Amino acid sequence: MKITLLTGKTFDYEAALGFPIKVVKSPLAKKLTLRIDEKSRLPVLTLPRYCSTRKALNFVENHRGWISETLNRLPEIRYFKDGDILSVMGWPYTVSRQPGRRGGAFLEGNFLIVTGSKEFTHRRICDFLKIKAKEELLRLSRQYAAQINSTVHNVCIKDTKSRWGSCSTKHNINYNWRIILAPEFVIRYLVCHEVSHLVHQNHSKEFWNCVAALCPDYQSGRNWLKAHGKELYQYA
Ligand SMILES: [Zn+2]
Repeated sequence: MKITLLTGKTFDYEAALGFPIKVVKSPLAKKLTLRIDEKSRLPVLTLPRYCSTRKALNFVENHRGWISETLNRLPEIRYFKDGDILSVMGWPYTVSRQPGRRGGAFLEGNFLIVTGSKEFTHRRICDFLKIKAKEELLRLSRQYAAQINSTVHNVCIKDTKSRWGSCSTKHNINYNWRIILAPEFVIRYLVCHEVSHLVHQNHSKEFWNCVAALCPDYQSGRNWLKAHGKELYQYA
């Protein structure tokens, strides 16, 4: 990508380095930093206000090994496709692409039917799972909240890369849509965890007692997420 320098000249970092990189100029940055953006799978270089091009290039060159190692370690991206068996709210469904039918994606018996052309299969299933997640997680959250005399205002479905859920003081709960692909006891643990934050905005002993009261077997859900959560994050 080309960057306009303070002198008004543009400089092409990708051409100079020989690999794709995103360069961000930040007047607030104190020093050069390099990170990997997991979503775009690109290294991101942040330039402070005063930094010579040569210094920036040397910095990236010195981290070339780290960049390729980190990129190689990123989990593989998975896409939904015909024939996949997916767990939706704890029940297995086989993806069946039926191009002649209409309706996007929907459940029918033990099948998750997806219509239209192959290139839209993944997107259509994601859209369906997000709607389903919203419906089911709102219902479950309200049900568990009532047990501790609390209420849930709304549930939002997010596409975050780092967390499964969060809870605001305004009684709104955010969930990562991928949780709908986990076994049911895991979904229940996560809901009980977030709902308990309606009463305890921390991870104190009282908070965990509340989770345990709602979900006695919460530790298995927690362990499952620690061991397998990464696999669900592989879905784009
Ligand atoms: Zn928490």
